[in-house]
Amino acid sequence: MTEPVADSADESATFPAWSPLGWVREELAGLERESLRRTRRVVEPLGDGECRIDGRTLWNFAGNDYLGLASHPAVRAAALAAAEKSGCGAQASPLVSGRTLLHAELEVRLAAFEGEPAAILFPSGFAANTGTIPALAGSYDVVLCDRLNHASLVDGCRLSGARLRVYSYTELDVLERELAKASEARRRVIVTDSVFSMDGTLAPLVEIDRLARRYRALVVVDEAHATGVYGTRGTGVVEHQGLTEAGFVRIGTLSKGIGAQGGFVAGPTDLVDWLTNRARTQMYSTGLALPTVAAALASLDLLERDTSIRPRLTARTEQLRAALAARGFQPLGDDRCPIVPVVLHDPDQTIAAARALEAEGFLVGAIRPPTVPRGTSRLRITVSAAHSAEVIEHLAAALSRAVGPGTASP
Ligand code: PMP
Repeated sequence: MTEPVADSADESATFPAWSPLGWVREELAGLERESLRRTRRVVEPLGDGECRIDGRTLWNFAGNDYLGLASHPAVRAAALAAAEKSGCGAQASPLVSGRTLLHAELEVRLAAFEGEPAAILFPSGFAANTGTIPALAGSYDVVLCDRLNHASLVDGCRLSGARLRVYSYTELDVLERELAKASEARRRVIVTDSVFSMDGTLAPLVEIDRLARRYRALVVVDEAHATGVYGTRGTGVVEHQGLTEAGFVRIGTLSKGIGAQGGFVAGPTDLVDWLTNRARTQMYSTGLALPTVAAALASLDLLERDTSIRPRLTARTEQLRAALAARGFQPLGDDRCPIVPVVLHDPDQTIAAARALEAEGFLVGAIRPPTVPRGTSRLRITVSAAHSAEVIEHLAAALSRAVGPGTASP
């Protein structure tokens, strides 16, 4: 039973002092002991694939600015011009008064880019996922969620209140079994990332589509790490795998390949109307800041006009993967994926390797549980079109020095 606590100065002598958040310090100490405590740093973006930390300039291989658009002069100029013209904050949620002409223009552009009739903006990719899934599934339904899905997809599934079934894209027979068992449910919704963000692997969307058709399920795909990266036009893995007509609900973010901020869903007009009425994370949250919207529009222009950017990213990605393979590493992921994870297993070793790389001038992600399963801590290296071929070569050599050649295995 909980001990009674003093409620006056006199009683404090009789009852032990109680700190309502005392447990937090104990939990943090536990994380520290397991090398799992996270701390935040101040990272100043410098553009051209570089950043500054504590006064030191580093090559940034820990971001998701795959195309180097976040600091592109045209993107900066567009954001500045929007701030000059209309200010920064959108002032209200989209349904009240926070959807400006610029927001409407971006939605039209995104729909055209994705080859869909309509699109709707969200405050972030995270919000797009946690808002969209509960709008599409509820307590009479079953959601089928890949084990490696991003936290926002998992949270969206949980928030929906639907029965949650977890599968792995490497064992689609489990997905099929769960779909068969869910035949009595009102709706079946398969939820998957198209690029798994910590593994750099691709979801087998063709097979998932086949199962979805057989069992009459809706497929929701998060293209967060694929927009601007995969597909002939750069719309993502759905395009890359030839599934633009499959009727998937496609969710994207503007914060990675597009180099800005915000999330979106592209699809039929009915879907967008439904999300306008039911996706709480866009209904009850302020519209995107205007410079962000203008930045995203400028990035989409660049993606369409500058045809040299995406091939440069592919070339740098292939170069890094080849340079690592030549040194005996076996990074995870698809050959063309700019997310290049090198699994070191142990969290302490992973942190030590990231520190050693930092000492040599390279910032890479040190990814530990609970972001990845225990025993699979890893360096997560992300390539950008802003990196030069020379820098990629230096990174591979530095990694070999930091970890020892070829000691990393999947
Ligand atoms: N989906 C995936 C797969 C992600 O990796 C992320 C961000 N890390 C998100 C969604 C969330 O996007 P945002 O950063 O725009 O909130």
